[in-house]
Parts: sequence; structure tokens; C-alpha cells
Amino acid sequence: MADSTFRCPLPLPGDALRAVNAYLIRSAGGFLLIDCGWDHQETLERLRDALRALGGGLGSVRGIFATHVHRDHLGLAGQLRDESGAWVSLGRGDQATLEAFSRDPGRARAASLERLRQAAADDVASRLRQLADDDAGWRPTLPDMLLTGEEVLLQDGRRLDVIPTPGHTRGHLCLFDRDRGILFAGDHVLPQITPSLGVELPDSGSPLAAFLGSLELVRRLPASLILPAHGPVFSDLAGRVDELLEHHRVRLDECLALVLDGAGSARAVAEALPWTRRRRHFSSLDPFNQMLAVFESEAHLLVLAERGLVDRQLANSVVSYAPATGGGQAGRRGQGGGTA
Ligand SMILES: [Zn+2]
Repeated sequence: MADSTFRCPLPLPGDALRAVNAYLIRSAGGFLLIDCGWDHQETLERLRDALRALGGGLGSVRGIFATHVHRDHLGLAGQLRDESGAWVSLGRGDQATLEAFSRDPGRARAASLERLRQAAADDVASRLRQLADDDAGWRPTLPDMLLTGEEVLLQDGRRLDVIPTPGHTRGHLCLFDRDRGILFAGDHVLPQITPSLGVELPDSGSPLAAFLGSLELVRRLPASLILPAHGPVFSDLAGRVDELLEHHRVRLDECLALVLDGAGSARAVAEALPWTRRRRHFSSLDPFNQMLAVFESEAHLLVLAERGLVDRQLANSVVSYAPATGGGQAGRRGQGGGTA
């Protein structure tokens, strides 16, 4: 990896992702840490070891740049700040989520369950509520800075451009080192999986539309080394972006076909689609992944509604979808996947 940049995989015990990659950038004044893992003692020890191997310690972390509000990226930030005095930054677009979860995590989670009920997935909501929730006690760290994407971080003259990449979350940010052609991609472009979409508070816009726009944006960056938050480092940014765009183009077509065939809710669509690279059936997923599947289906249906290909209606607290009125739906089949 480039001179002063170091990859530090941190364990996510029990999580399907298994690890999150933190990145350390060394400068004369100390280290910038990009993403920081869960708020577990094991994570802290792993970071301490990594910093020691680089000739520093927790006290040498000067700044913590979290790419987004999720626990595997922001989780340890508060504890690390206490130990090191480092500043913590997060994207401004994640502010509403941040504040909702730090104010009252129980209420914020209840809003997610309500969204499941609106998607006709009451059973998934009930099973999730019954599960002992490891996240229940976590309140996100309030950052010292909320970044909008206009900023540039400087490390010994090394310039890192903050790039807003909404989609996976509303406030997701990448960091781009133009001189070295390095993109710190967070969860925006991952080499082996597609990031989840739509795991947001109610009324959070159109996550898939935002994600597709952010993919087009980073595709144009002259980056030759992509440092993702999960999985191995890779080099073909445009190639991977094209795969992700194609995945969602196909998904949109599949969702449209299902609505034309009578699937009337995000849950019905999620039940009919295959999930994960192993193409698993919805019923074989655990409740948490069923929730991700329902929200992701909803994100696709929302884009189809925005494109006028399906009608979306809220009635009796359930959002339903139907072939677009106004005719010509059958002839529109296959047009759902454009990325405009
Ligand atoms: Zn992540």
C-alpha cells in the first residue's frame, strides 16, 4: 500500500461481514484514522497493537474520520476520543440518524419496525422485536465536526478530498487522495458485496437513486487503488462500479416484472427475489437480513415509482405498489434499469 497508509482489519465477531477495515494515515502530527470498528475492548486492543507496530499508540491518533454513522464505522470513536483527544468527523447527511439514535435508540429502532409494518412485513418486525438486541445499548458518538463534502483534509501536505456519496446512508462520505490515486471508499464501493440500501429513518428520500448517482460520481475519479471498508483492496474502480450498476439495473427489472405479475408490497417483492450471492430464498434469511431485504426491495420500488413505472400508495398504514395506471406498462418491461 502507499507509503504512509496502513490497513488495519478489525474483527466483527458474529457478524457476517467478519471484519471492517480501518485505515491509518501517518503524518508528523500523528495518525488520521478512517473508520474505527465496533465499540468493543477487542477492537481497541487490536488498534493499540497496530499503532504500536507503527511506532505510536492510541494517544497518537489525532483525527477519526467515520465514513458513515453505522456502528462498525463509528462505534469506537467516543472511547478512542476519550483516550486520545482526537477529533471525530461524520457526514452531515447522517445527522438526523445520529441524533435519533443518540437521543433515544429504542424509539429510533421502533421507527424501523414501523417501516417494516408499512412494507407488509409485520412478522419480521415482531421477530426482530423479540430478539435480544446486541445494539440496544449503543448510542452513537456525537462527532466534533459534521462534514458536507466541501472540505479538504491536510496531512503533512497530503491532500484528502471529502467526497459526499449518499446511498448506503444519507451522509456517507469517501476520501480521495488525488495525488496518489487512492480512494478510501467506506461502504460505498465494496469489492465482493453490494452495500445495503434503505436502512434509514422514515422519509429518508430515495436511497437507491442517491446511490446510483454516487456510483456515477466516483466512477469518474482517477483512482487506481480502492481501499474499501470490507473486503480486499482492489484497483478497477470503473469495472466494479459497472458491476454494481448492472446489478441494480437487473434488480429494477426484476422488481418491475414482479409488480406487473401482482406483487403488491415491498415484502412480496422481497419474498420473490433471490438474496445474497448464494441466491437464498427470503424465508431462509434470519430476521435481520429479512429486514435488509425488505428495505432494499422498497428502495428499488421507490425508484420504479419515481420513474412512473409503478404506482405507489399508502393506505391503512401499508404502502402498496401496482402497475402504473395510464397504460403501456407491459411495453415498459425492461426499461426499469436505466441509471439516469
Ligand atoms: Zn460497514
